[in-house]
Amino acid sequence: MTALLCHQFPCLSDNYGVLVHDPHTGATASIDAPDANAVKAALAEMGWSLTDIFVTHHHADHTGGIDALKSDGVTVTGPAAEAAKIKGLDRSVSEGDTVRLGDHEAEILETPGHTLGHIAYWFKADNLAFAGDTLFALGCGRVFEGTPPMMWDSLKKLRAMPDATVVYCGHEYTLSNARFALTVDPGNAALKSRAAAIEAMRDRGEPTLPTTIGAERATNPFLRPDDPGIRAAVKMPGADDAAVFAEIRALKDRF
Ligand code: ZN
Ligand code: FE
Repeated sequence: MTALLCHQFPCLSDNYGVLVHDPHTGATASIDAPDANAVKAALAEMGWSLTDIFVTHHHADHTGGIDALKSDGVTVTGPAAEAAKIKGLDRSVSEGDTVRLGDHEAEILETPGHTLGHIAYWFKADNLAFAGDTLFALGCGRVFEGTPPMMWDSLKKLRAMPDATVVYCGHEYTLSNARFALTVDPGNAALKSRAAAIEAMRDRGEPTLPTTIGAERATNPFLRPDDPGIRAAVKMPGADDAAVFAEIRALKDRF
C-alpha cells in the first residue's frame, strides 16, 4: 500500500477542489465537483485519471461539476439522505458505510447541520479526512438546514478523530474565521499565534488549508464550547456545550 496523494486547488470564488490519488492503483477521486473545468485542469496538471467523485452535500458549489466530469468509469458517491437532490449519483452511502479508493478505505460519517444529509469521508488508516462544509479552519459551516445542537454533534464526531488527522475543507474562510475567533477566545495564546500566521499566509496568497484536528481542537472556537475562557467570553459559564456552540455560531453569523 502506498500513501495517498492529495492535490488541492482553489476554484469558484472561495471553494477548494481536492484530488485524492492512490499511486499504486491509479484510482483518483475528486472531493466534490465545484467546477468541472478546474477539476479537469488539475487532473491534467497531475497526470491523473478520474475514477471517483466523493460528494459531501448537495449545494451547487459542490455538485455543479458532476455532470461534465461524469463519464464511463467514473463512480459518483454521495449521501443517501440527499440522493434526490444530487443528479448523477451512482452510489448512496450512510453512517458507517465504507468506500474504497484503490487500496485505501474511507469511513462515512454523517455530519448534518449545514445540510441535513451532509457527510464526511474519513480515511482512518491514512489520517486523512474530507469535511466539506461542516468544519473549516477556525470555523464551521453555517447551519442552514439543521439545528445548532445537530451541528455540534457532527463537529464532535470530527473532534474525536486523532490530532494528527489532516483535514481538507470546502472553503477558504480562514482569515475571517480567525478575526472572529479572537473575539470569543481572546486569552488563547495558540489562537493568537495561529491568527497572526494566517494573516501572513493570506497576505502572501497562500492557502491556509488543509488543517489538522489537533490544530482545530486547540484554536477553533466551534470545537471548544466546553472551554472555560470561551464560556466566560460569551457569558455562559454554566450552559451546556450545545447552547454555547449555538451562541458562538449566532455571534459569527452577525460578525
Ligand atoms: Zn455548502
Ligand atoms: Fe460550499
